[in-house]
Amino acid sequence: TGQVETLEFQSEARQLLQLMIHSIYSNKDIFLRELVSNASDALDKLRLETYRDKELQADTDDLHIEIALDDEARTVTVRDNGIGMSRDDVVNLIGTIAKSGTAEFLRKLKESKEESKGTVGQDLIGQFGVGFYSGFMVADKVTLVSRRAGTDEGVRWESSGEGTYTIESVADAPQGTAVTLHLKPADDEDHLYDYTSPWKVREIVKRYSDFITWPVRMAKTGDGEEGAAGELETVNSMKALWARSKDEVSDEEYHEFYKHISHDWTDPLETVRMQAEGTFEYQALLFLPSRAPMDLFMRDAKRGVQLYVKRVFIMDDCEALMPNYLRFVKGVVDAQDLSLNVSREILQQDRQIRAIRRRLEKKVLTTIKTMMTEDAEKYATLWGEFGRAIKEGLLDDPENREQILEISSFASTHHAEKPTSLRDYVSRMPEDQEHIYYATGESRAAIENSPHLEAFRAKGYEVLILTDPVDEMWVDGVTGFDGKSFQSVAKGEVDLGDDKTSEEQKADYADLLTWMSATLAETVKEVRLSSRLTTSPSCVVGDSGDLTPTLEKMYRAMGQ
Ligand code: ADP
Ligand code: MG
Repeated sequence: TGQVETLEFQSEARQLLQLMIHSIYSNKDIFLRELVSNASDALDKLRLETYRDKELQADTDDLHIEIALDDEARTVTVRDNGIGMSRDDVVNLIGTIAKSGTAEFLRKLKESKEESKGTVGQDLIGQFGVGFYSGFMVADKVTLVSRRAGTDEGVRWESSGEGTYTIESVADAPQGTAVTLHLKPADDEDHLYDYTSPWKVREIVKRYSDFITWPVRMAKTGDGEEGAAGELETVNSMKALWARSKDEVSDEEYHEFYKHISHDWTDPLETVRMQAEGTFEYQALLFLPSRAPMDLFMRDAKRGVQLYVKRVFIMDDCEALMPNYLRFVKGVVDAQDLSLNVSREILQQDRQIRAIRRRLEKKVLTTIKTMMTEDAEKYATLWGEFGRAIKEGLLDDPENREQILEISSFASTHHAEKPTSLRDYVSRMPEDQEHIYYATGESRAAIENSPHLEAFRAKGYEVLILTDPVDEMWVDGVTGFDGKSFQSVAKGEVDLGDDKTSEEQKADYADLLTWMSATLAETVKEVRLSSRLTTSPSCVVGDSGDLTPTLEKMYRAMGQ
């Protein structure tokens, strides 16, 4: 046993711990779900590591999770014999929070706190799983002992969650990790911290972790018969959810499973099941989350679903199974005919994986389509959260472009708040309108005040109001929808059919135009008479082939 060192939590970690201690979640039972989930991940990682590294000196005989309760000491211990952590692992993984978007989350949280005068937005918190730290909701001290598989030296970590932790080497730690929670004093009113009750703990495991594919063991509870002291029994069913028949699994079970794999704390919006037999046999269980993660638009964001091969966990974030624009979709794919040794590189090339990916993509798109017609409110939530990402698909995936246009919706001059589908837009087009008109800009207000809209307003033509940066990109690449082309209101000569600038007017204004062209020669290509304005005296338009002002700004910002 070595020297005891005291270290400080990273400041973001400290803030999250404070939230835990001054507990923000009303449902404290979930700490157990988090610890069991981490133990399960650690067992998955060990199994994988032993496939990859045949030399690894690890004990894989009886991989399992054990929950031990001590009602005298008032402790709950969750133990696994999985991959374990080295000293550095513990400092980096437990002492800091590496999740991208943490700083952003804390900033938002602070704002919402100020707005609501002290009470923390439960909503916001729900989006941000705090995993291991959730133990501090029920414990005033947490001890973690761990040894990384294949190494000799163990590590012991301890903290009361108040800014610092201690860490020391230990000689005799078993492989894997044991986390011990020293429970806060019992709360008599509602037995809130009665987590030393085996019945209560079993019930929590059943509710939240039944599908965990490793055995979760607890001491046998005496039901009259004399069980040998120290005898354990498995308390979860260990059945992979995607392998069970649909009517055997409740929504709640699906939702808990979603939380386990996504590390999200809110229920998903939609659950999608798929089953394919024949040449490429696989099962998939996909989820459309109800909220966008903080890092949806960050470059290093995780994406993709989990890959299993014949029930064996292979990898998280398998990008090869989901196109980038659907990166928010979570879930599991269990393929029958892949090797357990597949690597990411191999997967990118694999024909079977590509075929599965195409099927998953189609299924997600049709699910959204159905949602659009059958549950408008749900669809509106989905689109509000993920629309900006989905629209990237209009450029990235020409093959499914029609489908993506079909499930997209856009703000428009038709309604101040409600976005419209293109289908609805087209159905409202007056007979003489040929194109689908759109305006791009920074905000709705800016677009509505633009003189470019005047003529359209006068004609009663609806205009799509596109304000997302990605809109600037796809409108150039996508030619049309339902046989109607997309036309910018700000580009070229908009042919609204009845140009009333007569020869006479042209003659009248010839001098003025010549003078203006000369004076503005440095800044504009041409000055011409137009009938597109009704109240503004003039406006600037781009050539059909030109960049829009927003794109120009974007390119300039990128130094091009
Ligand atoms: P998450 O599970 O979302 O990554 P947690 O806060 O639950 O976040 O855990 C943080 C990290 O600590 C995990 O990603 C993992 O690397 C490590 N960890 C936690 N518990 C264990 C464990 N029982 N065995 C090995 N590593 C663990
Ligand atoms: Mg976790």
